[in-house]
Amino acid sequence: MSASHPEFPAGTPAWQRSNHSHAWMPYTQMQTTGWALPVAGTSGVRLTLADGRELIDGLASWWTACHGYNHPHIRQAVEAQLQHMPHVMFGGLQHEPALRLAGRLAQQLPGTLEHVFFAESGSVAVEVAMKMALQFWQNTGQSERNRFVCFHHAYHGDTLATMALCDPKNGMHARFRNSFPEQCSVALPDDAESLNAFSDFLGEMRKRTAAVILEPLVQGAGGMRFHSPTVLTAIHDICATHDILLILDEIATGFGRTGSMFACQQANVTPDIICLSKALTGGTLPLAATVANTRVYASFLSDDPDRALMHGPTFMANPLACAAANASLDLFQEHPRLQQALHIQDILASELEPCREMTRVVDVRSRGAIGVVQVQELVHLEWLRGRFVEEGIWLRPFGDAIYTTPPLVISDDDLRFLCRAIVRVVSQWSERSA
Ligand code: PMP
Repeated sequence: MSASHPEFPAGTPAWQRSNHSHAWMPYTQMQTTGWALPVAGTSGVRLTLADGRELIDGLASWWTACHGYNHPHIRQAVEAQLQHMPHVMFGGLQHEPALRLAGRLAQQLPGTLEHVFFAESGSVAVEVAMKMALQFWQNTGQSERNRFVCFHHAYHGDTLATMALCDPKNGMHARFRNSFPEQCSVALPDDAESLNAFSDFLGEMRKRTAAVILEPLVQGAGGMRFHSPTVLTAIHDICATHDILLILDEIATGFGRTGSMFACQQANVTPDIICLSKALTGGTLPLAATVANTRVYASFLSDDPDRALMHGPTFMANPLACAAANASLDLFQEHPRLQQALHIQDILASELEPCREMTRVVDVRSRGAIGVVQVQELVHLEWLRGRFVEEGIWLRPFGDAIYTTPPLVISDDDLRFLCRAIVRVVSQWSERSA
Protein backbone atom coordinates (compact mmCIF):
# COMPACT_ATOMS: atom_id res chain seq x y z
CA MET A 1 0.00 0.00 0.00
CA SER A 2 1.17 3.52 -0.63
CA ALA A 3 3.45 5.28 1.84
CA SER A 4 0.83 8.02 2.09
CA HIS A 5 -1.53 5.62 3.81
CA PRO A 6 -2.22 6.55 7.43
CA GLU A 7 -1.24 4.38 10.40
CA PHE A 8 -3.56 1.51 11.21
CA PRO A 9 -6.12 2.52 13.79
CA ALA A 10 -5.60 1.03 17.25
CA GLY A 11 -7.20 -2.38 17.56
CA THR A 12 -6.57 -3.39 13.92
CA PRO A 13 -6.33 -7.19 13.99
CA ALA A 14 -3.11 -8.90 12.89
CA TRP A 15 -4.83 -10.63 9.95
CA GLN A 16 -5.62 -7.24 8.47
CA ARG A 17 -2.29 -5.58 9.26
CA SER A 18 -0.27 -8.26 7.50
CA ASN A 19 -2.52 -9.03 4.54
CA HIS A 20 -4.66 -6.00 3.71
CA SER A 21 -2.90 -5.08 0.47
CA HIS A 22 -3.19 -8.61 -0.92
CA ALA A 23 -6.94 -8.26 -1.24
CA TRP A 24 -7.77 -5.98 -4.18
CA MET A 25 -10.99 -4.36 -3.05
CA PRO A 26 -14.10 -3.76 -5.20
CA TYR A 27 -14.79 -0.32 -6.67
CA THR A 28 -11.86 1.07 -4.69
CA GLN A 29 -8.92 3.33 -5.47
CA MET A 30 -6.41 1.32 -3.47
CA GLN A 31 -3.90 4.18 -3.19
CA THR A 32 -6.13 6.70 -1.52
CA THR A 33 -8.77 4.62 0.18
CA GLY A 34 -9.04 4.60 3.95
CA TRP A 35 -8.81 1.31 5.77
CA ALA A 36 -11.61 -1.11 5.10
CA LEU A 37 -13.40 -1.91 8.34
CA PRO A 38 -12.39 -5.27 9.79
CA VAL A 39 -15.61 -7.17 10.40
CA ALA A 40 -15.53 -10.10 12.80
CA GLY A 41 -19.12 -11.30 12.85
CA THR A 42 -22.71 -10.76 11.79
CA SER A 43 -25.98 -11.36 13.59
CA GLY A 44 -29.53 -10.25 12.87
CA VAL A 45 -29.25 -6.80 11.29
CA ARG A 46 -25.84 -6.06 12.82
CA LEU A 47 -22.21 -6.25 11.85
CA THR A 48 -19.69 -6.66 14.68
CA LEU A 49 -16.33 -5.05 13.99
CA ALA A 50 -13.03 -6.51 15.18
CA ASP A 51 -12.84 -3.92 17.98
CA GLY A 52 -16.30 -4.89 19.25
CA ARG A 53 -18.28 -1.97 17.80
CA GLU A 54 -21.63 -2.85 16.29
CA LEU A 55 -23.15 -1.30 13.18
CA ILE A 56 -26.72 -1.63 11.93
CA ASP A 57 -26.36 -2.83 8.37
CA GLY A 58 -28.34 -0.42 6.19
CA LEU A 59 -27.44 -2.37 3.05
CA ALA A 60 -28.19 -6.00 3.98
CA SER A 61 -24.81 -6.79 2.40
CA TRP A 62 -25.65 -5.47 -1.04
CA TRP A 63 -29.38 -6.38 -0.87
CA THR A 64 -28.80 -10.02 0.03
CA ALA A 65 -29.45 -10.63 3.76
CA CYS A 66 -33.21 -10.21 3.55
CA HIS A 67 -33.88 -12.32 6.67
CA GLY A 68 -30.99 -10.78 8.59
CA TYR A 69 -27.66 -12.51 9.17
CA ASN A 70 -27.14 -16.04 10.49
CA HIS A 71 -30.79 -16.94 10.39
CA PRO A 72 -30.99 -20.28 12.25
CA HIS A 73 -33.28 -21.89 9.68
CA ILE A 74 -30.90 -21.17 6.79
CA ARG A 75 -27.87 -22.09 8.88
CA GLN A 76 -29.38 -25.45 9.82
CA ALA A 77 -30.26 -26.21 6.20
CA VAL A 78 -26.72 -25.42 5.04
CA GLU A 79 -25.17 -27.40 7.91
CA ALA A 80 -27.34 -30.42 7.12
CA GLN A 81 -26.39 -30.22 3.44
CA LEU A 82 -22.72 -29.84 4.36
CA GLN A 83 -22.86 -33.17 6.18
CA HIS A 84 -23.59 -35.23 3.12
CA MET A 85 -22.89 -33.32 -0.12
CA PRO A 86 -21.32 -29.84 -0.17
CA HIS A 87 -20.84 -29.90 -3.90
CA VAL A 88 -21.18 -32.08 -6.95
CA MET A 89 -20.99 -31.17 -10.62
CA PHE A 90 -24.35 -30.54 -12.29
CA GLY A 91 -23.41 -31.87 -15.72
CA GLY A 92 -25.11 -35.26 -16.11
CA LEU A 93 -26.06 -35.32 -12.40
CA GLN A 94 -29.04 -33.88 -10.58
CA HIS A 95 -29.70 -33.50 -6.89
CA GLU A 96 -32.64 -32.84 -4.64
CA PRO A 97 -31.79 -29.30 -3.41
CA ALA A 98 -31.44 -27.97 -6.97
CA LEU A 99 -34.52 -29.68 -8.38
CA ARG A 100 -36.66 -28.70 -5.44
CA LEU A 101 -35.47 -25.11 -5.79
CA ALA A 102 -36.07 -25.06 -9.55
CA GLY A 103 -39.58 -26.39 -9.01
CA ARG A 104 -40.34 -23.83 -6.32
CA LEU A 105 -39.05 -20.94 -8.42
CA ALA A 106 -41.10 -22.15 -11.39
CA GLN A 107 -44.15 -22.27 -9.15
CA GLN A 108 -43.65 -18.82 -7.65
CA LEU A 109 -42.70 -16.96 -10.81
CA PRO A 110 -45.56 -15.68 -12.96
CA GLY A 111 -46.67 -17.10 -16.31
CA THR A 112 -44.62 -19.84 -17.90
CA LEU A 113 -41.27 -18.83 -16.42
CA GLU A 114 -40.52 -22.45 -15.64
CA HIS A 115 -37.06 -23.33 -16.90
CA VAL A 116 -34.32 -22.48 -14.46
CA PHE A 117 -30.64 -22.25 -15.36
CA PHE A 118 -28.39 -21.88 -12.30
CA ALA A 119 -25.17 -19.88 -12.08
CA GLU A 120 -23.17 -18.33 -9.25
CA SER A 121 -23.39 -14.59 -9.79
CA GLY A 122 -25.80 -12.00 -11.06
CA SER A 123 -23.55 -10.89 -13.90
CA VAL A 124 -23.33 -14.44 -15.20
CA ALA A 125 -27.10 -14.82 -14.88
CA VAL A 126 -27.50 -11.76 -17.13
CA GLU A 127 -24.93 -13.11 -19.58
CA VAL A 128 -26.87 -16.37 -19.71
CA ALA A 129 -30.07 -14.43 -20.38
CA MET A 130 -28.34 -12.63 -23.25
CA LYS A 131 -27.07 -15.90 -24.64
CA MET A 132 -30.54 -17.48 -24.38
CA ALA A 133 -32.07 -14.52 -26.22
CA LEU A 134 -29.45 -14.57 -29.00
CA GLN A 135 -29.79 -18.27 -29.49
CA PHE A 136 -33.58 -18.15 -29.33
CA TRP A 137 -33.48 -16.06 -32.52
CA GLN A 138 -30.81 -18.27 -34.08
CA ASN A 139 -32.91 -21.33 -33.30
CA THR A 140 -35.94 -19.73 -34.87
CA GLY A 141 -34.18 -18.60 -38.04
CA GLN A 142 -33.59 -14.90 -37.30
CA SER A 143 -29.93 -14.82 -36.32
CA GLU A 144 -29.58 -11.19 -37.43
CA ARG A 145 -31.49 -10.24 -34.29
CA ASN A 146 -28.40 -9.88 -32.14
CA ARG A 147 -28.61 -6.46 -30.47
CA PHE A 148 -29.92 -5.50 -27.05
CA VAL A 149 -31.88 -2.42 -26.12
CA CYS A 150 -31.18 -1.16 -22.62
CA PHE A 151 -31.76 2.07 -20.71
CA HIS A 152 -29.92 5.07 -19.41
CA HIS A 153 -29.02 4.58 -15.72
CA ALA A 154 -29.16 0.82 -16.16
CA TYR A 155 -26.78 -1.49 -14.35
CA HIS A 156 -26.61 -5.18 -15.20
CA GLY A 157 -23.21 -6.34 -14.00
CA ASP A 158 -19.45 -6.01 -14.25
CA THR A 159 -18.53 -8.66 -16.84
CA LEU A 160 -17.79 -7.62 -20.43
CA ALA A 161 -21.14 -8.41 -22.02
CA THR A 162 -23.11 -6.97 -19.11
CA MET A 163 -21.00 -3.81 -18.99
CA ALA A 164 -22.27 -3.09 -22.49
CA LEU A 165 -25.81 -3.00 -21.10
CA CYS A 166 -24.98 -0.45 -18.41
CA ASP A 167 -25.42 3.28 -18.91
CA PRO A 168 -22.70 4.01 -21.52
CA LYS A 169 -22.15 7.65 -20.47
CA ASN A 170 -22.74 7.97 -16.75
CA GLY A 171 -22.29 4.37 -15.69
CA MET A 172 -19.16 3.13 -13.93
CA HIS A 173 -18.09 1.22 -17.04
CA ALA A 174 -18.20 4.18 -19.41
CA ARG A 175 -14.42 4.05 -20.01
CA PHE A 176 -14.78 0.64 -21.66
CA ARG A 177 -17.43 1.66 -24.12
CA ASN A 178 -15.16 1.31 -27.14
CA SER A 179 -13.88 -2.05 -25.99
CA PHE A 180 -16.91 -4.17 -26.72
CA PRO A 181 -19.80 -4.24 -29.18
CA GLU A 182 -22.06 -1.31 -28.47
CA GLN A 183 -25.62 -2.01 -27.39
CA CYS A 184 -28.47 0.39 -27.81
CA SER A 185 -29.00 2.47 -24.67
CA VAL A 186 -32.02 4.79 -24.70
CA ALA A 187 -33.77 7.02 -22.19
CA LEU A 188 -36.33 5.12 -20.15
CA PRO A 189 -39.69 6.26 -21.51
CA ASP A 190 -41.92 7.59 -18.76
CA ASP A 191 -44.93 9.27 -20.37
CA ALA A 192 -47.33 8.71 -23.26
CA GLU A 193 -45.21 10.68 -25.70
CA SER A 194 -41.91 8.98 -24.90
CA LEU A 195 -43.60 5.57 -24.82
CA ASN A 196 -44.97 6.17 -28.30
CA ALA A 197 -41.54 7.24 -29.51
CA PHE A 198 -40.04 4.14 -27.87
CA SER A 199 -42.57 1.96 -29.64
CA ASP A 200 -41.72 3.55 -33.01
CA PHE A 201 -38.05 3.10 -32.30
CA LEU A 202 -38.45 -0.58 -31.42
CA GLY A 203 -40.55 -1.05 -34.53
CA GLU A 204 -37.62 0.24 -36.61
CA MET A 205 -35.06 -1.79 -34.67
CA ARG A 206 -37.18 -4.92 -34.62
CA LYS A 207 -35.29 -6.95 -37.20
CA ARG A 208 -31.98 -6.38 -35.44
CA THR A 209 -33.07 -6.59 -31.83
CA ALA A 210 -32.88 -9.73 -29.71
CA ALA A 211 -34.26 -8.32 -26.48
CA VAL A 212 -34.99 -5.34 -24.30
CA ILE A 213 -33.46 -5.61 -20.83
CA LEU A 214 -34.66 -3.67 -17.81
CA GLU A 215 -34.42 -3.63 -14.03
CA PRO A 216 -38.14 -3.44 -13.23
CA LEU A 217 -39.43 -0.58 -11.03
CA VAL A 218 -36.02 0.26 -9.56
CA GLN A 219 -32.82 0.87 -11.47
CA GLY A 220 -30.30 0.09 -8.76
CA ALA A 221 -26.57 0.69 -9.06
CA GLY A 222 -27.11 3.17 -11.91
CA GLY A 223 -28.64 5.67 -9.49
CA MET A 224 -31.54 4.14 -7.52
CA ARG A 225 -34.10 5.55 -9.93
CA PHE A 226 -37.73 4.46 -9.81
CA HIS A 227 -40.35 4.13 -12.52
CA SER A 228 -43.99 3.22 -12.18
CA PRO A 229 -45.67 -0.14 -12.76
CA THR A 230 -47.62 1.58 -15.56
CA VAL A 231 -44.37 2.32 -17.40
CA LEU A 232 -43.25 -1.27 -16.90
CA THR A 233 -46.54 -2.59 -18.26
CA ALA A 234 -46.29 -0.28 -21.27
CA ILE A 235 -42.72 -1.39 -22.04
CA HIS A 236 -43.79 -5.01 -21.75
CA ASP A 237 -46.71 -4.42 -24.13
CA ILE A 238 -44.53 -2.59 -26.65
CA CYS A 239 -42.05 -5.49 -26.68
CA ALA A 240 -44.94 -7.92 -27.18
CA THR A 241 -46.35 -5.83 -30.05
CA HIS A 242 -43.03 -5.94 -31.90
CA ASP A 243 -42.27 -9.52 -30.85
CA ILE A 244 -39.07 -8.52 -29.08
CA LEU A 245 -38.03 -10.56 -26.06
CA LEU A 246 -38.20 -8.85 -22.68
CA ILE A 247 -35.54 -9.72 -20.09
CA LEU A 248 -36.21 -8.45 -16.59
CA ASP A 249 -33.17 -8.22 -14.34
CA GLU A 250 -34.64 -8.80 -10.87
CA ILE A 251 -31.26 -9.51 -9.32
CA ALA A 252 -31.71 -6.57 -6.94
CA THR A 253 -35.51 -6.20 -6.91
CA GLY A 254 -36.42 -9.87 -6.52
CA PHE A 255 -37.43 -11.56 -3.26
CA GLY A 256 -39.58 -8.94 -1.65
CA ARG A 257 -37.35 -5.90 -1.87
CA THR A 258 -39.97 -3.71 -3.58
CA GLY A 259 -42.91 -5.07 -1.56
CA SER A 260 -43.93 -7.93 -3.87
CA MET A 261 -42.02 -11.18 -4.29
CA PHE A 262 -40.93 -10.00 -7.75
CA ALA A 263 -41.22 -6.41 -8.92
CA CYS A 264 -42.82 -7.46 -12.22
CA GLN A 265 -45.86 -8.70 -10.30
CA GLN A 266 -46.76 -5.11 -9.37
CA ALA A 267 -47.19 -4.37 -13.07
CA ASN A 268 -48.80 -7.72 -13.73
CA VAL A 269 -46.26 -8.50 -16.43
CA THR A 270 -44.30 -11.64 -17.20
CA PRO A 271 -41.03 -11.28 -19.07
CA ASP A 272 -39.65 -13.91 -21.43
CA ILE A 273 -36.57 -14.31 -19.23
CA ILE A 274 -35.95 -13.24 -15.65
CA CYS A 275 -32.62 -12.99 -13.79
CA LEU A 276 -32.42 -13.64 -10.04
CA SER A 277 -29.61 -13.62 -7.50
CA LYS A 278 -28.68 -11.54 -4.40
CA ALA A 279 -31.44 -12.42 -1.89
CA LEU A 280 -32.03 -15.84 -3.50
CA THR A 281 -30.05 -17.56 -0.72
CA GLY A 282 -31.00 -15.04 1.93
CA GLY A 283 -27.49 -13.65 1.70
CA THR A 284 -25.57 -16.74 2.70
CA LEU A 285 -24.03 -18.24 -0.43
CA PRO A 286 -23.52 -17.19 -4.03
CA LEU A 287 -26.25 -18.39 -6.37
CA ALA A 288 -28.08 -16.98 -9.36
CA ALA A 289 -30.78 -18.19 -11.71
CA THR A 290 -31.85 -17.29 -15.22
CA VAL A 291 -35.39 -18.47 -15.79
CA ALA A 292 -36.90 -18.74 -19.28
CA ASN A 293 -40.49 -19.11 -20.34
CA THR A 294 -41.68 -22.13 -22.28
CA ARG A 295 -41.46 -20.32 -25.62
CA VAL A 296 -37.77 -19.52 -25.22
CA TYR A 297 -37.03 -22.94 -23.75
CA ALA A 298 -38.90 -24.80 -26.49
CA SER A 299 -36.74 -23.17 -29.17
CA PHE A 300 -33.74 -25.07 -27.79
CA LEU A 301 -35.44 -28.47 -28.06
CA SER A 302 -34.35 -30.41 -31.11
CA ASP A 303 -32.71 -33.59 -32.36
CA ASP A 304 -29.77 -31.38 -33.20
CA PRO A 305 -27.20 -31.22 -30.36
CA ASP A 306 -26.05 -27.84 -31.70
CA ARG A 307 -29.32 -26.29 -30.62
CA ALA A 308 -28.53 -26.91 -26.94
CA LEU A 309 -27.58 -24.12 -24.57
CA MET A 310 -23.81 -24.46 -24.36
CA HIS A 311 -23.25 -23.10 -20.90
CA GLY A 312 -22.30 -24.71 -17.61
CA PRO A 313 -20.54 -22.87 -14.79
CA THR A 314 -18.44 -25.30 -12.73
CA PHE A 315 -20.24 -24.49 -9.50
CA MET A 316 -23.73 -24.11 -10.94
CA ALA A 317 -26.54 -25.34 -8.67
CA ASN A 318 -24.12 -25.79 -5.78
CA PRO A 319 -26.05 -27.93 -3.26
CA LEU A 320 -25.14 -25.78 -0.25
CA ALA A 321 -26.38 -22.67 -2.03
CA CYS A 322 -29.54 -24.43 -3.21
CA ALA A 323 -30.22 -25.67 0.35
CA ALA A 324 -29.83 -22.09 1.58
CA ALA A 325 -32.19 -20.83 -1.13
CA ASN A 326 -34.81 -23.44 -0.26
CA ALA A 327 -34.57 -22.44 3.39
CA SER A 328 -34.89 -18.78 2.42
CA LEU A 329 -38.05 -19.54 0.43
CA ASP A 330 -39.42 -21.37 3.51
CA LEU A 331 -38.96 -18.15 5.46
CA PHE A 332 -40.84 -16.17 2.81
CA GLN A 333 -43.67 -18.69 3.17
CA GLU A 334 -43.69 -18.65 6.96
CA HIS A 335 -43.18 -14.96 7.64
CA PRO A 336 -44.87 -11.82 6.31
CA ARG A 337 -41.77 -10.53 4.54
CA LEU A 338 -43.71 -8.61 1.88
CA GLN A 339 -45.75 -6.77 4.50
CA GLN A 340 -42.50 -6.08 6.34
CA ALA A 341 -41.07 -4.50 3.18
CA LEU A 342 -44.14 -2.28 2.80
CA HIS A 343 -43.99 -1.33 6.46
CA ILE A 344 -40.33 -0.37 5.99
CA GLN A 345 -41.39 1.78 3.03
CA ASP A 346 -43.78 3.77 5.26
CA ILE A 347 -41.15 4.36 7.92
CA LEU A 348 -38.49 5.29 5.36
CA ALA A 349 -40.88 7.73 3.72
CA SER A 350 -41.68 9.59 6.93
CA GLU A 351 -38.29 9.39 8.63
CA LEU A 352 -36.19 10.46 5.64
CA GLU A 353 -38.56 13.28 4.69
CA PRO A 354 -36.64 16.00 6.63
CA CYS A 355 -33.74 15.55 4.19
CA ARG A 356 -35.88 16.97 1.38
CA GLU A 357 -35.44 20.54 2.59
CA MET A 358 -31.67 20.29 2.96
CA THR A 359 -29.26 22.12 0.71
CA ARG A 360 -27.95 20.01 -2.18
CA VAL A 361 -30.60 17.34 -1.69
CA VAL A 362 -32.40 16.77 -4.99
CA ASP A 363 -34.94 14.13 -4.03
CA VAL A 364 -36.03 11.79 -1.26
CA ARG A 365 -37.90 8.63 -2.22
CA SER A 366 -38.71 5.14 -1.04
CA ARG A 367 -40.12 2.02 -2.57
CA GLY A 368 -40.50 -1.17 -0.55
CA ALA A 369 -37.42 -1.58 1.59
CA ILE A 370 -35.37 0.91 -0.45
CA GLY A 371 -34.84 4.46 0.77
CA VAL A 372 -32.94 7.05 -1.26
CA VAL A 373 -31.68 10.54 -0.58
CA GLN A 374 -30.49 11.82 -3.93
CA VAL A 375 -28.03 14.71 -3.85
CA GLN A 376 -26.55 17.11 -6.39
CA GLU A 377 -23.07 15.70 -6.17
CA LEU A 378 -21.60 13.33 -3.65
CA VAL A 379 -18.75 15.48 -2.41
CA HIS A 380 -16.88 14.60 0.82
CA LEU A 381 -17.63 10.93 0.21
CA GLU A 382 -15.02 9.52 2.62
CA TRP A 383 -16.13 11.95 5.31
CA LEU A 384 -19.71 10.84 4.80
CA ARG A 385 -18.86 7.16 5.03
CA GLY A 386 -16.84 7.76 8.19
CA ARG A 387 -19.64 9.73 9.82
CA PHE A 388 -22.13 6.94 9.20
CA VAL A 389 -19.82 4.51 10.97
CA GLU A 390 -19.44 6.93 13.90
CA GLU A 391 -23.24 6.97 14.10
CA GLY A 392 -23.30 3.16 14.30
CA ILE A 393 -24.69 2.43 10.85
CA TRP A 394 -23.28 0.85 7.70
CA LEU A 395 -23.98 2.55 4.36
CA ARG A 396 -22.04 3.01 1.11
CA PRO A 397 -23.30 6.06 -0.75
CA PHE A 398 -22.27 6.21 -4.40
CA GLY A 399 -23.01 8.16 -7.57
CA ASP A 400 -25.49 10.77 -6.43
CA ALA A 401 -27.37 8.52 -3.99
CA ILE A 402 -27.25 8.01 -0.28
CA TYR A 403 -29.43 4.95 0.01
CA THR A 404 -30.46 2.19 2.35
CA THR A 405 -31.73 -1.33 1.66
CA PRO A 406 -31.97 -2.82 5.16
CA PRO A 407 -32.80 -6.46 5.94
CA LEU A 408 -36.58 -6.96 5.67
CA VAL A 409 -36.61 -8.11 9.31
CA ILE A 410 -35.27 -4.86 10.75
CA SER A 411 -37.22 -3.74 13.84
CA ASP A 412 -38.98 -0.38 13.91
CA ASP A 413 -36.53 0.85 16.54
CA ASP A 414 -33.47 -0.13 14.54
CA LEU A 415 -34.96 1.32 11.37
CA ARG A 416 -35.74 4.63 13.08
CA PHE A 417 -32.22 4.67 14.55
CA LEU A 418 -30.83 4.12 11.04
CA CYS A 419 -33.00 6.80 9.45
CA ARG A 420 -32.34 9.38 12.16
CA ALA A 421 -28.61 8.83 11.80
CA ILE A 422 -28.97 9.36 8.03
CA VAL A 423 -30.90 12.60 8.58
CA ARG A 424 -28.31 13.88 11.06
CA VAL A 425 -25.35 13.06 8.84
CA VAL A 426 -26.97 14.37 5.65
CA SER A 427 -27.80 17.60 7.47
CA GLN A 428 -24.14 18.04 8.52
CA TRP A 429 -22.98 17.05 5.03
CA SER A 430 -25.29 19.54 3.42
CA GLU A 431 -23.99 22.40 5.63
CA ARG A 432 -20.44 21.31 5.00
CA SER A 433 -20.86 21.21 1.22
CA ALA A 434 -23.12 24.28 0.87
N1 PMP B 1 -27.93 -6.79 -12.10
C1 PMP B 1 -28.32 -6.00 -11.10
C2 PMP B 1 -29.62 -5.26 -11.20
C3 PMP B 1 -27.50 -5.84 -9.97
O1 PMP B 1 -27.88 -5.01 -8.99
C4 PMP B 1 -26.29 -6.58 -9.90
C5 PMP B 1 -25.37 -6.47 -8.71
N2 PMP B 1 -25.23 -5.25 -8.12
C6 PMP B 1 -25.94 -7.40 -10.97
C7 PMP B 1 -26.80 -7.47 -12.05
C8 PMP B 1 -24.66 -8.17 -10.96
O2 PMP B 1 -24.66 -9.14 -9.99
P1 PMP B 1 -23.30 -9.73 -9.40
O3 PMP B 1 -22.65 -8.62 -8.64
O4 PMP B 1 -23.73 -10.86 -8.53
O5 PMP B 1 -22.49 -10.18 -10.57
